[in-house]
Amino acid sequence: LVSRQHHHERSTVWVRGVPIGPDTFTFMAGPCAVESPEQTLEAAQMAKAAGATILRGGAFKPRTSPYAFPGLGVRGLEILADVRAATGLPIVTEVVDARDVAVVAEHADMLQIGTRNAQNFGLLQAVGNAGKPVLLKRGFSSTIEEWLMAAEYVAQRGNLDIVLCERGIRTFEPSTRNTLDISAVPVVQATSHLPIIVDPSHAAGRKELVVPLSRASIGVGADGIIVDVHPHPEDALCDGPQALLGSELRELAGAVRTMPGLL
Ligand code: PEP
Repeated sequence: LVSRQHHHERSTVWVRGVPIGPDTFTFMAGPCAVESPEQTLEAAQMAKAAGATILRGGAFKPRTSPYAFPGLGVRGLEILADVRAATGLPIVTEVVDARDVAVVAEHADMLQIGTRNAQNFGLLQAVGNAGKPVLLKRGFSSTIEEWLMAAEYVAQRGNLDIVLCERGIRTFEPSTRNTLDISAVPVVQATSHLPIIVDPSHAAGRKELVVPLSRASIGVGADGIIVDVHPHPEDALCDGPQALLGSELRELAGAVRTMPGLL
């Protein structure tokens, strides 16, 4: 269902009127985690001012440590919905448990499956049934074939509104949090009709790499990027070191604006 064998043209997925696909470049940004109404609104305003057209933000956070901030849950979804009303930005947010799919789908415009759940087949089927576009991150140890098979689980439920997201894979290299597999972009585009975007923030884990990796994503032909921003990264409850603000965000906005085809 997701291969180009029987569906030759590359697809565009629409998220509350915003296209993601081959004829455009979609910039998504927002806080790693929703922490408060003020922080989320400020981050959304920063994202919008930089040119983002979709707001990201985690309400249910899949943390490696059970002692880390787990997100605000349903309260976080309500904050995101309020911020959508204030800014007009559609929302993408992660769902980590099949039992939460209905409530997340009630609030969000796009459901994110994170790297840790990339092969949680029951969850993939549940989001496939939810009737909302899906952002499917690559599992950090998934091959491209395994990732496309994960997408197939969603598609099998009759939902082809799937956007793939390369977010780095685990390799022997410790100087970045994950190794961004930039070659996944053209490989996926050759084999699947689904749009593919890149998350340089979760790949690198460090803000100084986000702009260069975004430039690489634009250069390689990705259909968009999704980036962490935070009004006060030093106080962030989740992944502060990878969040952009100020000059880096302006530089990123400039790179997105001047990409060929958008001028
Ligand atoms: C995220 O985008 O909030 C996230 C946790 O990403 P990943 O699943 O890629 O680690």
